[in-house]
Amino acid sequence: MADVMVSRHPLVLTKLAMLRDQRTNSKIFRELVGEITQFLMYEATSDLGLVECTVQTPLAPYAGHQLREQIGLIPILRAGLGMVEPILDMIPTAHVWHLGLYRDHETLQPVSYYNKLPPQTNVDVCLVLDPMLATGGSASAAVTVLKQWGVKRIKFLGLIAAPEGVALMQREHPDVPLHLAAIDERLNDIGYIVPGLGDAGDRQFGTY
Ligand code: URA
Repeated sequence: MADVMVSRHPLVLTKLAMLRDQRTNSKIFRELVGEITQFLMYEATSDLGLVECTVQTPLAPYAGHQLREQIGLIPILRAGLGMVEPILDMIPTAHVWHLGLYRDHETLQPVSYYNKLPPQTNVDVCLVLDPMLATGGSASAAVTVLKQWGVKRIKFLGLIAAPEGVALMQREHPDVPLHLAAIDERLNDIGYIVPGLGDAGDRQFGTY
C-alpha cells in the first residue's frame, strides 16, 4: 500500500483555506499553489540521496553535501504547470518533462496527447505534479508512462485529493507515495472534487 502523507502543517492548512475561497483571485491563487507546493516538496524530498563534497569557506575547508540524485518534475498539463516554478526555485537542477493527458469528459478516462520523454531515462526520482487528484486516472497514466520509461522512484504531489483518486493510485501504483495537503469528501457526478476548489487550471490561469 502506498504511503499517503496529508500535511497537517498550520501554514498549509491556512493557505489551503485561502486557496479554496472562491473570492481568491488568480494571482493570489497561483502564489498559494506555489507556496503549498513548496511545503509538500520539502517533505517529499526528505529522503533524497546525498554525496559529500568539500567547499572552502572564507575561513576553512568544510565537508558538506550535494544531491546525488537527478530529479525530474512531471507536471500534468495544464494545472500541474503552476507547481513547477516553485520547485525549480528550490531545486534548480531538476529536469522538467511535460506529459499531456486530458480527461475525456464522457468516460473520465485519461487520453495522452503530448509526450516528449527522450528514449532513455535520465532521472532518478520523478515528482508527478497535479494540484487535483480527482479520479486518479491522469496521475496513474502518467506514472505508468514513467515506469515504462524506466524511472525507479516516483512520488506524487497534489494539493487536494478525492478518496476515489487515492484508492486508484493505491490499487494501481502501491509503490508511489502520495504527498497531499488534503483529502476531501468525494467526487461529484461530473468529476469535480467536493468541496475542492473548482477547476484548478481555470483558477490559476483566469480562464473561467
Ligand atoms: N480537476 C480540477 O481542476 N478540479 C477538480 O475538482 C477535479 C479535477
